[in-house]
Parts: sequence; structure tokens; C-alpha cells
Amino acid sequence: MLPDEPQYGLIEVRGIVQGVGFRPFVYRLAGNYGIKGNVTNTSEGVRIRAAASSERMRGFIRALSQQAPPQAWIEDISWKELPAFEVEDFTISSSLREAGTSTLISPDLATCDDCLAELFDPNDRRYRYPFINCTNCGPRFTIIEDTPYDRPMTTMAGFKMCERCEEEYHDPANRRFHAQPDACPECGPRLWLADEGGSEIAGDPIELAAELLRNGKIVAIKGLGGFQLACDATSGQAVAGLRERKRRYSKPLAVMVSGLEEARRICRVSEEEARLLASPGSPIVLLNEKINNSISREVAEGLEHQGVFLPYTPLHHLLLREAGIPLVMTSGNMSSEPICKDNLEALERLAGIADYFLLHDRDILIRYDDSVSRIFAGAEYPLRRARGYAPYPVKLKDTYTTEVIALGAELKNTFCFLRGSHAFIGQHIGEMDTGEALSHYEEARDAMQHLFRLDPQVVAHDLHPDYLTTRLAMESSLPRIGVQHHHAHIVSCMADNDIQGEVIGVAWDGTGYGEDGTVWGGEFLFSDRAHFRRAARLRPYLMPGGEICISDISRMAAGVLWEVGESDGIAEELAAQLRSGFNCPLTSSAGRMFDAAAAIIGLRDKALYEGQAACELEAVAKRMSSRYPYHLLESNGLLEIDTRPLFKALIDDVASKAQMAEIAGRFHTTLTAAIVETCSRLSEETGLERIALSGGVFQNELLTSMVLEGLSSAGLECYLHHRVPCNDGGISLGQAVVAAERCRPSPQIEVPSQRCQALL
Ligand SMILES: [Zn+2]
Ligand SMILES: [Zn+2]
Repeated sequence: MLPDEPQYGLIEVRGIVQGVGFRPFVYRLAGNYGIKGNVTNTSEGVRIRAAASSERMRGFIRALSQQAPPQAWIEDISWKELPAFEVEDFTISSSLREAGTSTLISPDLATCDDCLAELFDPNDRRYRYPFINCTNCGPRFTIIEDTPYDRPMTTMAGFKMCERCEEEYHDPANRRFHAQPDACPECGPRLWLADEGGSEIAGDPIELAAELLRNGKIVAIKGLGGFQLACDATSGQAVAGLRERKRRYSKPLAVMVSGLEEARRICRVSEEEARLLASPGSPIVLLNEKINNSISREVAEGLEHQGVFLPYTPLHHLLLREAGIPLVMTSGNMSSEPICKDNLEALERLAGIADYFLLHDRDILIRYDDSVSRIFAGAEYPLRRARGYAPYPVKLKDTYTTEVIALGAELKNTFCFLRGSHAFIGQHIGEMDTGEALSHYEEARDAMQHLFRLDPQVVAHDLHPDYLTTRLAMESSLPRIGVQHHHAHIVSCMADNDIQGEVIGVAWDGTGYGEDGTVWGGEFLFSDRAHFRRAARLRPYLMPGGEICISDISRMAAGVLWEVGESDGIAEELAAQLRSGFNCPLTSSAGRMFDAAAAIIGLRDKALYEGQAACELEAVAKRMSSRYPYHLLESNGLLEIDTRPLFKALIDDVASKAQMAEIAGRFHTTLTAAIVETCSRLSEETGLERIALSGGVFQNELLTSMVLEGLSSAGLECYLHHRVPCNDGGISLGQAVVAAERCRPSPQIEVPSQRCQALL
């Protein structure tokens, strides 16, 4: 509340207000409203000492939030009256650093339109300068060592501004007023092209690199959050070469195009998709490919979606325009290793992959992969949260008193710090199965912990005893809270949508450690934010050989065929194993059902990456109204979807040479019907009407859209993810919230619903 006639006051603005041109904005605004005083960055945000008549002051404070720069994100503005002070004008003061406080930091932002215009203006002094940026765009999180966000705290510290840059930096009317990474060709970072041995090649590095790319070479490019490997996306030979050298077989690759126009030439792009492509976060967006476009089949074979993104640094803009071809742009690493970030590291680790290196001398502090997202049902549906997204916290409606670190899952790993109402989800780390991945994880975690002064009191982790993250939790001195994988999925979806109370959660994915020690993945849970009870599941099948079935999907098919009495085609060795039950764990995983179906209809026998068979099954499927039978039974207090009738009918369809598209379509329709019927039954039993959908299976657009339609026809309310991925990248948020809920001081514990109470 503002007092009626304030004359001298202290205004504190919290949120993302540093590195987004906020102080210059305040300066200009103060001029407009005739405010005297000063503005400064603090470790918590921005602080304004202001003197003016009460009417002007009110207008000024209102305008602070209403007219804030596009990349600013204001959480809170506070006002405190001060005793009168002497002041002549309005100034920007140097930053204050205070112990024990923290502010939010903007992610790296894609090149803005103003900078882009200058980049291609021959009369501009930054014409074709690959490091052009301003207060509205450019590197942020990848170059910050500490807060407050000022040049000496960034990797730009070593570049002394020239006179002209210095002038701009101090001119309140300039777009580069206090732009920390600002630079020009005279004083800033420099770009050069090097050969495999690291020797510089004379000439214009952009022209040279573009020429090499057009000639089918592979060029490593030092980007924002690490190196990328680029090659001609229209050349099957170049792409195959890149795959071979990077040992990334089959997994789809993203393509960078020069602009929206080119994106529209290769894919269908809706308005929402165009907006997402051109957003400051600039993620890779999954788009529906146009048939017979110029992109090589090698890029995303067997899939109907193509990951496309726009240039997001001046370097990318220059290169794409010069090359005149769409470029495959993939993270600079050997498959499954973390992305390279330093010049020497890249020359060493990417030797044998890249033919040439586009290097520069602005250091990258923190590794960041590209983010991946898509539009689903008119809204953003993120798949991988990294550059341009993290470290924006996910803001929750609830505020928690216990600070938590959640360590995430094994695949698509992210970690999450939860403090108050902020969930700081780290950038996508990826597969947590190597020493390198672990170092990347620790580096990213420590950086975030330091920058935001995080101090967790509790560690949350998955129940899987073999996960690297579980072992990290065991080594921690903090109290531990284990969170079941699918419960974490559902609570992640609840937190994503800010919903409280109890829901029916449908958690369908590939693998998650169940409370009974078996592999879960086709789960229906009664869940609130602290506890859950398993309500229904897919009927489990044997996995002959265990985890090997994830890549050798023909084994999973054998497990299914065995159970439906179609064991004739099973190799004797496998049949013997199934008969004996030796090393044949049970799984209720939905992901494995997709694998089995894909193998039975003859799509493929082996999956070269997680989820490949499921993606291809979706890609070939035609939307069908007819479906296969299944049973919904009660077994041991659980509802169980018995899919044996489904597989029997599917096998008959295969035998009678029905079209693959129709079989795959019916498979999707059947699972949809099973989800909708199960949810309806559980809803009738309990009166719960809200359904939360989470888990990697809901990356399947066909299934998810049919499930949405089915559930809403059944009168149920459906919740999908919008801010964090439905895949395991969202697990850490769920873990953090479950742990924080369980730590709520006892007087505030809400009485859990009956179904959950049974667990206490
Ligand atoms: Zn700019
Ligand atoms: Zn300069």
C-alpha cells in the first residue's frame, strides 16, 4: 500500500530485472515522471531511491510494472518511505553486492530485431560483427560468474571497451546503456576459423565456413552454451558422415534455417509455432514436415516431425545467410557425452568428428544445450528445457518453507532447487550414466546453487537403487526423501498447472522403479502432492533378459507373444528363458507395449535410441475409429488393463496382411479407449474428476490428442504439462514438490484424503 503523499521513498523491484535493460528503462521513466534519485542493481534485484510529488511517484511506480522491458519479469515491487534526502537529478549508481541475497538471472536471449538490422547494415559499425548484442538480447547465464550481473562478473571482463562502446554504455538514451556483454569489432571478441589441428586459416571466417559447409564438410561452431556440429542438411552424404563420426545413429537431428520463410518451405508452421520459433528462448520446435522437402532423409528418418530452429546468435545469422542452405546443427559432443565448451577441449574431443572449427575468444562458463519444444493443442508443450529457458524459475502458486534439492531421474536428467515459490530447474543434462555426465551435472548444479545462493535442507531422489542420482543422494549429508518415479511425474504435472488436492494421475512411460521393486510404466495413481496410491496399471509382461529388451525390442515382443499363446515364432533359446522365468522381470510399462507392437508389426527389431519404436509407430499410424478388444479387470485390489486380447487381434491383423498404418492406428485407439475407460471407472469410484497426464508416452501427439478428446467427452478435466517436459526432464520438479510437501511443519499439514492416508 502506498501512503497518500509520499515524497521520498525506497522502491525495490524483484524478479528478472538485471541484464534486461531495466536500469536504463528506470532512468528514462524517471525522466518522464520528473523523479529525482538513483537506481542500482543489488544482489536481490533493483533498488530505486526516489523523490517526487506523490502523484508523480504513483504514476512512476505503476509504469514500472506496466511498461517494463520485454524480457523483464517483475515478481514484486515494494515501497518504503524514507526521510527527506538531498538530490539534484536521477542517476544510475554502481551495483551493490550484499551477502546472503540473490536475484533472478535472465537466460541467454536470441538476437533482437534491432541488433539484426544493424548486423546486416553495411553502414553500421557492427556490420557483420558476430558478437553484436544489446540490453534486449545476447548472452547472459552462460557468461555469468556471479551476481550482481555486471561486466566484471562475466567472461567479458577481459575485454576493455573502446571509446565508442564506452559512450554507448553510458548514454541513457542508447539501447546499449549498461549492456554488459556489449562489444564491437574494435574492442570485443574475435572469430576465426581453424583447421583440425587448431591452426588459424586466413580469410573471412564466415565466408570460409559457409563454403566448407556447402562442400559437405563438418564444422564445429562455438555457440552460446557450447559447441555445435554443423553440416549441410540437404546432403545425405554429409549427414550420414556426421552421424557416423559422432556415433549418433538414427536419432533425429535438428535443422537450423535462415528464417521463418525457410522453415515454412520445409515444414507446416502454424501461427503459434512461428511465435515459438521466433521467441527470445528460440528453442528447437518440432514441426510437421512437408513431403518431398529439401531436407535429407538421413536427418530424421521414419519420423513425421522435424526439429527446426532459427538462428539465435549473430554468428548463426551470418553463417546461415552466407551458406544459403539449411544446416544440421547438433550438440558438439560424442554421443552421450556432455557438450564441449572450451576451444582446446573442443579441438581435442571433437577431433575426428569436425573437419574445421569456428572459434572465438569469449569464454563460455556454463554448458547449455539447445531447448526442444512443440505446440500441442494450441499451447507450448516443452520437451527439453535448457538454453533460453533455464534458469528462469518455474514460479509456483504455493510457497514452501523447506528448501529442497531434487536430483532428477537417470534419463533426460535435470536437477531442481525449490525455494519458496521458485523451482529452479537446471538445464537439461541428459543421460546420467557416465563420469563425464556426472561432472557436467555437478558443475551445473554448483553454478546454480552459487548464483542463486541456494541452501537446500533436504535432498529428494528416485527410488531406483542403481541410479547415479540415488547414489549421490546416499552420499549427501542432508536428510533424504525418496520419491517414486511415477508419483514424481504426476506431482510435476500438478505443480506445472498449480493444482492442489487429489487427482487421478496417468503416468505412462518407459521405465520407473516401482514400490514393489518391479518395473512400472503404465500407471494410474490416486495422487496428491505428498502421497499416492496405485489405482490401476497395464497388465505386466515378462521382459526376457530384463533391460536389454529396451534396445532389443524383439525380445519384448517375444515376452508378449509368449503370454498370448503365440509362442511358435519365438526362438528356442528365448522360449526356454521365458519358460524358466530366469532373468525375466515383470513390467507394466506402456513404453514396452509400444516396442512390442512395433516389433510384431515388423517396423523394427532393435531400437537405436530410447523411444524410437514408439515414435515410428506413431509416425506410421493412421487415425482409426475401429479398435482392438481389451479387458478391464480387478486384480489384487488394482484395476488392470489386460492387453492380451489387443495383441491377439493385432497378430491376426498382421497375419491377414492388414495395412501397417491401420494396425498402428488401431493400437493407438485401443490404448486411448483403455485410458479413458480406466479413468472413468476410477472417477466413478472416487468422485475425482481431474486427470493429470504425465510420462514420456504423452510425447505421442496422436495418443495424447485422442486421450484428451476421450477424457473431455467423458466429462473429465484434463491437465497436461506446459512449463516442464512430461518426460523424465520434468521428474526433478515433482520430486522437489513431493519432498517439500512432506516437510511442511506439522501444524500446517493438510489432512490427507482417505486414500492417501492409508499410506501414512
Ligand atoms: Zn539486441
Ligand atoms: Zn567497441
